Amino acid sequence: MNLANHMVKAASDYAAYPASAHGTTILHSYSEVAKRVARLANAMLTCFNLQPGDRVALILANCPEYLELLYAVWHAGLIVVPINAKLHRKEFEFILGNCRANLCFITDKHAESIAALSIKHEMTTVDIGSDDYASLLSHPPRPVVTRELDDAAWLFYTSGTTGQPKGAVLSHRNLMTMCDCYFSDVDPVEPWSAILHAAPMSHGSGLYGLAYVTRGGCHVIPGSGGFNPAEIYDLIEHWPGIAFFAAPTMVKRLLDYPVRTDTRNLKAIVYGGGPMYVEDALAGLERFGSKLTQLYGQGESPMTITSLNASMHADKSHPRYLQRLASVGIAQSAVEVRIANDADVSLPVGTVGEILVRGASVMSGYWESPEASKEALRNGWLHTGDYGVLDEDGFLTLKDRAKDMIISGGSNIYPREVEEVLIKHPRIAEAAVIGRPDREWGEVVVAFIVSKDGDEIDVAELDELCKSEIAGYKRPRYYTRIAALPKNNYGKVLKTELRQQDHG
Ligand code: AMP
Repeated sequence: MNLANHMVKAASDYAAYPASAHGTTILHSYSEVAKRVARLANAMLTCFNLQPGDRVALILANCPEYLELLYAVWHAGLIVVPINAKLHRKEFEFILGNCRANLCFITDKHAESIAALSIKHEMTTVDIGSDDYASLLSHPPRPVVTRELDDAAWLFYTSGTTGQPKGAVLSHRNLMTMCDCYFSDVDPVEPWSAILHAAPMSHGSGLYGLAYVTRGGCHVIPGSGGFNPAEIYDLIEHWPGIAFFAAPTMVKRLLDYPVRTDTRNLKAIVYGGGPMYVEDALAGLERFGSKLTQLYGQGESPMTITSLNASMHADKSHPRYLQRLASVGIAQSAVEVRIANDADVSLPVGTVGEILVRGASVMSGYWESPEASKEALRNGWLHTGDYGVLDEDGFLTLKDRAKDMIISGGSNIYPREVEEVLIKHPRIAEAAVIGRPDREWGEVVVAFIVSKDGDEIDVAELDELCKSEIAGYKRPRYYTRIAALPKNNYGKVLKTELRQQDHG
């Protein structure tokens, strides 16, 4: 079974349904997209001499061609390597070299920089705006190349907030499981739904797009190709039953934007990939109604570890409502989740430890990295590197990644707890907390804050706020006001960069 069979089936079940749209303009129906996919697949195999299992990279901002290229690669029995188009030239060079992609689809925006890379193997680039791409589409359609469920489908290079990126090998089975979990644990999709690709299709938005193909949902690409709150609101107003995936920082940008439009069409905002602060989740519920769903996942178990669904977000009468809102929800249907110590021994409810995951969505390993794979998957469980705690109902609350945890005077401090408090200050837009090496305490807490109006905030006020909410030893010793928090291309705050900026 090949993921490409989903597109073939959609072309039969939902032939005339719109499959792709650019802004408010419908481009192709499912039967049209499926034909383009089968033609492109044929061209990939015949023009470039590719063999099943070869890698095809995509260095593309969100665009209507993304969907057909993903499915054409699978239709031809190849492996797709979607790369965030905003990465640095050196990161492109590393990833393309690491996976040895023989074919790479780009736009003219990247033509010069990709041509200048030092790639040691043979690689052809095709500009999707060129006549070459148009001529690939003139090849006759071919049938789907058979693949086994455990064959690789997608190499997901992890966002790399630290170290060199590694390619998580995701199989057809892993991604089909992710689709099933989307329906059962995140957001049921009806055939008339639409997905707005507001976040990069090389990551969460593209992954969740696969679920929409199985239900004949329309893939809407914003005209700008990026994330522009005004445009997102306009598209919500236009498309009935629309949902989208967003990093919490994107949700925050939508909340900070004065709404001019009607959001009744909105079906769901599925957020995840980084921490959502309770204040922001409450503001989101107030603005959009009960349409927020959270997922916790990682490239190694794509979008599929836990979820906090819309009804959990809405259950205000629950005695632990706010605690639940601060959590990432319960295990998704296809995985087991447990909390363990360094020896992989399970820890009791209420105890912080590493989050381990096992199930059909978990990768088979990292691309050509046997050591790293063995380490991440030891004893049959994915070691996420994330720390968290389960409550008696199975709700998981994330603490921080081991490297982000601060140890001050022998006590563990989870930056998120401190950030949750700081963000409550009415003039704080964003906050991030790190540890600064200190002779006396080992580490002390340093807070980086961004003020809403760009003016200073009285540190005494912040200290009072912290005093009223958290233990004294967790209070920041130093505050640094900056214009904006450094973030990577997926909207994750780069704590490594903050540590470098912090000179004490
Ligand atoms: P990536 O592999 O790039 O998708 O990054 C995955 C990492 O993002 C996870 O290991 C977590 O550290 C973080 N993450 C994902 N989802 C959430 C969430 N809902 N809340 C907080 N952090 C998250």
